[in-house]
Amino acid sequence: MQCPSCQYNDTRVVDSRPADDGRAIRRRRECPHCGTRFTTFERLETTPLFVIKNDGSREEFNGDKLLRGLVRAAEKRPIKSDRLMLVVGQVEKDLRKLGESEVTSQIIGEYALKYLSDIDDIAYIRFSSVYKHFDSVEIFLKELQDIVIDKEDKES
Ligand SMILES: [Zn+2]
Repeated sequence: MQCPSCQYNDTRVVDSRPADDGRAIRRRRECPHCGTRFTTFERLETTPLFVIKNDGSREEFNGDKLLRGLVRAAEKRPIKSDRLMLVVGQVEKDLRKLGESEVTSQIIGEYALKYLSDIDDIAYIRFSSVYKHFDSVEIFLKELQDIVIDKEDKES
């Protein structure tokens, strides 16, 4: 780290401690050339993740929004809200693993459904009816059928 005062390139760390509840590291540095002391913060770089919506518009990924959708789908179902929060965290992790700066809302729906299918069938169906925008009753019934077949496969 360059000295801000004399631009000497090799400054020394004299103290290092966690900051911002452990999300950052605060370092006191000293320039051996001119004696100037200064502070740096090191924190994880989080690149914003953008969502391309069905109408083509773009917005920043919002975990709260996904959570609200899940909570609505899980209404009156025996699902704890922290379970849904875990789903949101897992979906965000999966999305970031893609390494893309933009994802479609379809992908987010698919990922969330993948986890919901292990939690609750009714919530899964409600959520998929919102996310998949079923064009016809036939497609919706086909989807239900797949769930039933999938369940029977798991049980047999
Ligand atoms: Zn200096």
